[in-house]
Formats: sequence, structure tokens, C-alpha cells
Amino acid sequence: MNIQITGLTKTYPNGYTAIKDVNLEIGSGMFGLLGPNGAGKSSFMRILVTAQQATSGSILMDGMDINEHRQKIRTRIGYLPQDFTFFSKLKTWEFLDYAAQLSTSLKKKERIIKVDQLLDQVGLLDVRERLANKLSGGMKRRLGIAQALIGEPKLLVIDEPTTGLDPEERIRFRNILSDLSQKDVTIILSTHIVGDISSTCHNMAMLNKGEVAFKGSPEGMIEKVRGHVWQVNLNDEEFNKIKMEYSVVSTIPIDGKWEVQLIAENSPHPNATHANPNLEHAYVYFMENQLGISLI
Ligand code: ADP
Repeated sequence: MNIQITGLTKTYPNGYTAIKDVNLEIGSGMFGLLGPNGAGKSSFMRILVTAQQATSGSILMDGMDINEHRQKIRTRIGYLPQDFTFFSKLKTWEFLDYAAQLSTSLKKKERIIKVDQLLDQVGLLDVRERLANKLSGGMKRRLGIAQALIGEPKLLVIDEPTTGLDPEERIRFRNILSDLSQKDVTIILSTHIVGDISSTCHNMAMLNKGEVAFKGSPEGMIEKVRGHVWQVNLNDEEFNKIKMEYSVVSTIPIDGKWEVQLIAENSPHPNATHANPNLEHAYVYFMENQLGISLI
């Protein structure tokens, strides 16, 4: 699916503008929307899935304006919201079967086949008889993906999927998404976790205070910070001084000193050397946006 977003702005009735003039083009594969809490990611995702309307701007999906073709667009979208919840009395397979009744016209026999196929795809076939609300957090999230996939969407929108998951579940979830993105489904994933993006997405945007701070590839974002990441070993006094002045990304205590990595336009200390940048560094760089450098 090709998605063209132009001048998208959302001002809530209380006057707060959560999305400001966002322009993006999203193609097939996996697209990551990175940003801190409050950046406007959920607001953006809700507009994308037609759950709320923008104040101004437009979104075209395969050339169709989503406001003019709301019903048609909805049949092509699978959505996993951040606060996805379950009906407590349903078993795992029953929950998915219920979702299938709501969003497909499949007959009972076809539904059962489809449900087990999806449970297998997300690694839940073994627990198909377990009550959905008794599943672990990671399993619930995977069941959420299965329900979002049931109508065979062309676009899958997933809001903060890995928050609160342990590392093993996080990796498992990312792998399921990577597999899906091979299958002609556009996946848009929002997250504040840098690792979700660096391990799965070739295209991304960073949202900060409702505005696009960066768009491109994760590698492109990393290149923007090259030359601004420094490493230096400091004593307590130097460290206390430097952390007041600069964005410190990491600190490791070594032999009574601090090995510090930080973001700075120019060398912050006579002993500082350039460090190899990664996406975490770039994220801090774009979030702080305090270096006075033109960012895009
Ligand atoms: P994120 O998903 O990146 O955390 P959100 O889209 O949830 O960001 O929120 C962006 C900003 O918009 C926040 O400051 C939030 O308080 C505000 N916001 C979200 N929904 C509403 C609403 N319905 N009314 C007013 N403000 C809102």
C-alpha cells in the first residue's frame, strides 16, 4: 500500500495541537514511527485508522482519500491499539473466532481453519483453549496481532507493541512483524523503544512534539549524529560539571572514573574522542534538538 500524508494537523477541542503539519510518504514493508511519550504517535495512528479525524491535511491510501472512502479503507486496515483488551470469558480461539465473525464473512468451518492458521502464525496454537485474559502479556500482544490480521489487511497499524514485554517476547514479537512485512503488507509500528526500529524497519520517521524531526532510514538518522558523539573518561567533579551542560547518553563506572558518552557539537573535553554513533545516540540528538544545527 502507498500512503501519502500531506500537511496533517490535529488540534484537540482543548486547543492542544498534538500533530503539526506532518508530511510523509509510506510504501510497502515495515515503517517505524519513533518518538518519546507525548510526541503524538497515538494521535497520528488513530487518524490513520480513521478512528478520529484530523483538523486539517489529508491522507491518501493507494490514491483514495481516507475521509471520502472511510468504509472501504477500514476493510483494508488491521489495527492493534496500545490499550487493547479482551473479553474475559472467551478462550483464546473463541476470541479470534469472534473477531472473525465481526470482520469477515467466513462460514464457521472456514473460520475455524483460519483461526488455527493465525494462532499457529503467532505461536499460540498450544494455548488455544486457555482463557484469553489468562495469557501472559506477550501472548496477549501476539493474540492482538492475530485479531488485527484476521481480515487480511493491506495495512497493519500497531501502536507501541513492545512496551512492558520482556526481552525474549520483544524479540519474538519483532520476528513475527518482520515475517509479515515480507508478505505484501505495509506495517506501521509506533514505539518509543529505539531497538524496535533498529532491528526491524528500513524506513522510519521520528516525531517530536507533534512534528517530524527526521524521516528516512535508521542508517540515515545515525549519519546525522556522526561527529557529535563523544567518549571521555572523567573524574567525579568533571562528570558532575559535564552532565549539567551536555546530553549524556551512557555512563559506565571504570576504575574509580566514569566512561561517559555524550552528544555535543564540539569537543566537550580535551581528552574526548569521537565515538561510533548508533540509533540511540541519534534519538537523543533529535529529541534534545539543542545543538542549534539544522536537523533535516
Ligand atoms: P504518544 O502516543 O506519542 O505518547 P499522544 O498522541 O498520545 O502521544 O499524545 C500527544 C499529546 O496530545 C499529549 O500531550 C496528550 O496529552 C495530548 N492528547 C492526546 N489525546 C488528547 C485528547 N483527546 N485531548 C487533548 N489532548 C490530547
